[in-house]
Amino acid sequence: MSSSAIDLRAFIRDVPDFPKPGILFKDITPLLANVDAFRASVEGLADAFRGRGIEVVAAPEARGFVFAAPLALALGVGFVPIRKPGKLPYKTLSLEYDLEYGRDTLHIHNDALAVGRRVLLVDDVLATGGTMEACRGLVGQAGAEVVAYAFAIELGFLGGRAKLEPAEVFSLIRY
Ligand code: AMP
Repeated sequence: MSSSAIDLRAFIRDVPDFPKPGILFKDITPLLANVDAFRASVEGLADAFRGRGIEVVAAPEARGFVFAAPLALALGVGFVPIRKPGKLPYKTLSLEYDLEYGRDTLHIHNDALAVGRRVLLVDDVLATGGTMEACRGLVGQAGAEVVAYAFAIELGFLGGRAKLEPAEVFSLIRY
């Protein structure tokens, strides 16, 4: 099936009040479980960024990895993981950032990105944009440049895009 023939929205399951009351969680597991939908989503992201000089795809754990790793292969570039504390085995750069309640920290290996590398940051869902802002900070600490952001799903009403622009923000599905 061609990627344009599939309605990806049909494969996103809304789960109310997860992980806490008031959150409508966008569950991507039905999409991942369907090979046509999964392939179409990776191809849709790859079509948007092929020939654009992307040199590295990077993503935060864990759902970001699911799209970022096959996207990196489709673009013919490497993949760099961004992880929670205590997961990466070698020396890391780290950045603490604000969550809705409290703070969290993300890490990247300190040799993962060469200076000046053109990076595409990827995640499953763009919500408030806080996670991606932190990822951008880590890429910047490494001396590399975020040229664009790619998401399977964008929750437009949360305004995350404004935190990431003027860099390009691309999403397959918008709510
Ligand atoms: P953000 O607010 O953009 O920093 O989102 C935080 C992380 O939680 C991102 O990695 C998203 O994938 C995830 N996330 C936030 N809101 C939702 C939601 N409504 N459904 C599914 N995932 C979400």
